Parts: sequence; C-alpha cells; structure tokens
Amino acid sequence: MTDRETLDLYEATGALLHGHFRLTSGLHSDVYLQSALVLQHPVHAAALGEALAAPFRVDRIGSVLAPATGDILVSPEVARALGARALFTEREDGVMRLRRGFTLPAGERCLVVEDVMTTGGSIREVITCAEALGGTVVGVGTLIDRSGGTAHFPVKRAALATVKATTWKPEECPLCRAGSTAIKPGSRV
Ligand code: ZN
Repeated sequence: MTDRETLDLYEATGALLHGHFRLTSGLHSDVYLQSALVLQHPVHAAALGEALAAPFRVDRIGSVLAPATGDILVSPEVARALGARALFTEREDGVMRLRRGFTLPAGERCLVVEDVMTTGGSIREVITCAEALGGTVVGVGTLIDRSGGTAHFPVKRAALATVKATTWKPEECPLCRAGSTAIKPGSRV
C-alpha cells in the first residue's frame, strides 16, 4: 500500500481532514486525523495492518504491542499478518504496563505499533515497558507519521504514510488571524 493509497483511504472515511481545527490538546491545526474512522471498517483495518506488517516479516516478531485504547485497533491485524500475538499496554498510576495476565517470555522479539505518531511519546513508554519485562523491541510501526521526522528510535522503523501538519497556540494561529473559526471534529456545536 503506497503513501497515497493510505491517505486516500483515510480521506475517503473522514479520518483525515484538512481545514482549521481545535485539537484535544487545545492547539489549533490545519490537519485533523482520527484513525478510528478508517479502522472502524474491518476490511480497511486488515489492509492497513497487513501493509504495516510487510516490512517486519523477516524479523521473527513474537508479540505486537500497542498502547490502549486507540491503537488496539491496529495491533491485531499486524499480528495476524505476522503470526504473532497482539498485546496492549495500559496506563496504571501514570505508568504504562502490561496487565490482564499478559506476559513476555525473556528475549521475546517485539514490534510496537501506533496509529498516528505525533511525538512518539507513548511508543517510547511501550518500549520501556516491554524491555523492563525482558522483551527485545526490534521495530516500531505506525500507520501515519506526523512527527515531521522528530521522533527517533534506535530500531527498525516503518510508516505507511507521512503527513505534514502544523499546530499553533490559539493566540498565534494564522488561520484564526485570517478570520476563520477552529472547529473540533466530532463534537456537536
Ligand atoms: Zn486557529
């Protein structure tokens, strides 16, 4: 699946919008991404998961890990394509952990996946969690990379598409200054 095909799928399902948005963080942006809108269609989730798994087929992945909640729509499809397990981490007392009886055998080769990478912060937390349990993280895969090349990991990286998005503090937003109003997609006005 190419960069363009991935973005077409996101746009066709309303998961990628261009305009003037107010993000959950309070920042304004010219791009809005909501992967759940594309992943709600299992056929699309399967296609994206399989495409993201492809570069890691040679890596003998035992477990695919994702941070709950949004990214647990990605990991089962990637894991299915790799013949691996699909696990998810959850935050407990502010710390990312494997719960629900999930375990990692010592040296288990792990792939960490996320739908959209912005700063890579939660991926970093999942890596720390997996390594603390004795796993070996050998790859990081994201459907969309909007980090602008700022997120670095010392492992194999893959993204299906790269999105260039700018964010601004509301008082510095040029779109506001031009007279338009930021909207929050999905909320009723
Ligand atoms: Zn604005």
